[in-house]
Amino acid sequence: MTGSSARFELEGVAISPDHYVDGARLASATTFEDRSPLEWTRVLGHMARGDAGIANAALTSAARAFPSWAALSCTARGEYLHRLAELIDERSDQIARVECLDMAMREESLRLRVIPRGARNFRAYADLAVEYEERSWSSNNTDNRVVRMPCGPAVIITPWNAPFMLSTWKCAPALAAGNTVVLKPAEWSPLSASILADLIDEAGFPPGVFNIVQGIGEEIGAALVSDPRVRRVSFTGSPETGRLIGMAAARNLTPFTAELGGKSPLIVFADADIDAAAKKAAGQYDDAGQVCLAGTRLLVEVSVRDEFLEKFLTYTNEHVLGDSRDDNTTISPVIHVDHLAQIDGFVQRARRSGDNVMIGGKIWREDGLWYEPTLIEPVSNNSEIVQKEVFGPVLTLQTFDSEAQAIELANSTPYGLAGMIYTTSAKRADRVGRAVRAGTVWVNCFLIRDLSAPFGGTGISGIGREGGDYALDFHSDLKTLQVLQSSVI
Ligand code: NAD
Repeated sequence: MTGSSARFELEGVAISPDHYVDGARLASATTFEDRSPLEWTRVLGHMARGDAGIANAALTSAARAFPSWAALSCTARGEYLHRLAELIDERSDQIARVECLDMAMREESLRLRVIPRGARNFRAYADLAVEYEERSWSSNNTDNRVVRMPCGPAVIITPWNAPFMLSTWKCAPALAAGNTVVLKPAEWSPLSASILADLIDEAGFPPGVFNIVQGIGEEIGAALVSDPRVRRVSFTGSPETGRLIGMAAARNLTPFTAELGGKSPLIVFADADIDAAAKKAAGQYDDAGQVCLAGTRLLVEVSVRDEFLEKFLTYTNEHVLGDSRDDNTTISPVIHVDHLAQIDGFVQRARRSGDNVMIGGKIWREDGLWYEPTLIEPVSNNSEIVQKEVFGPVLTLQTFDSEAQAIELANSTPYGLAGMIYTTSAKRADRVGRAVRAGTVWVNCFLIRDLSAPFGGTGISGIGREGGDYALDFHSDLKTLQVLQSSVI
């Protein structure tokens, strides 16, 4: 553990490779390499590789800062969050450019939608915490009041896709509720978190309130989540890692929430606007399919299968594979050379087991990390390609001939993150929407979010809910304060 190392420059931003602990930069003796999916031979930087010592330092500082942060009013804490939101807005173009280089999401969507959402996350929680009411009522000659107490340091662990948006989404409620935070971003896309640390510093947060550490999940991540001083663990990532983190948190009886993977159905009924459904289905290839909520299982009523497929193929042909910095690109490279191999592994196993690879099914260019948009008709609903998350531009196509069969297929995987239904019938939308086992179901739309609505998954897609008061509840310890009436004046 040493002072801080030299910054490196990317897109006009001087990026620190170091951790941000107790209001200061802190280096590690070892580093890990961060590469760009846009040019795989290009090393963007060597980031500090945190270990148990850095985890300890970050948690010590978060624990020290906790009592005074918790003692502030929601309004006072909200002022820091609002300041941070303003700084994010001021730098959103730069953050978008760096994040694009780092994880290859399309720069235009980062600039217009994803990074500004980071600022919205802080604003929304600054305001929600102030409005968050304490319930009170009278019974048995007593006044009952539900008091919300901040809990202590929270560890937040985030994945490589949409890292800035997801990190801010998860840290904002923890801070607003009065907890201090140690954030560990994913090692495949660590850069925007380092910029966030500079903005936290500029916003004037008290030292130790908001710490960011870099490193490998199995190393510093594991050390953080198994520390008994941690009072909340909030994780987004794969179900496999979720299980490990959940077990580590359980050993200390630390409350744990997890937003995990998905294999969501996109159901198209014969009464739907087939063109709109086909267009949205082809849109599931956006961001190279690396979207947890993506509707990767297309379930289409058999009577409209051919019409849907023709339109779907037309829209899919309009996709442009290319550099994510180019506004014309719609399909970016995937995050990492290992992830590309994993996606291809799923597709080749499907091919070998008799599933019909209708389009795509291969790496687009040997000199890059693009995978062709792929559509597979499985031989059976039990096929691996139907049952497991690929997290790439790979969709499956299945048909159904009744509403009951559509629901049965929709609910036939262990996941339950999201679902989409295309129908023009309000009654069917309600019936099927209620029957689909998922945390969010969109009817005739996708990805529209109200930040006060609950968000999460059922089955292996997650535990707990984020969004609005649900996240503030998770980040609070609830207490009943019961006072005998007429005993106090
Ligand atoms: P991952 O589970 O491999 O890693 C996520 C994070 O966990 C990383 O920061 C990693 O360093 C850390 N980690 C790994 N092992 C750890 C350990 N033993 N202890 C502590 N931390 C550890 O996931 P990923 O590949 O980064 O992300 C892709 C997955 O995330 C997909 O399954 C995707 O669906 C899911 N995801 C879900 C949502 C959601 O909101 N439900 C959103 C985005 C991504």
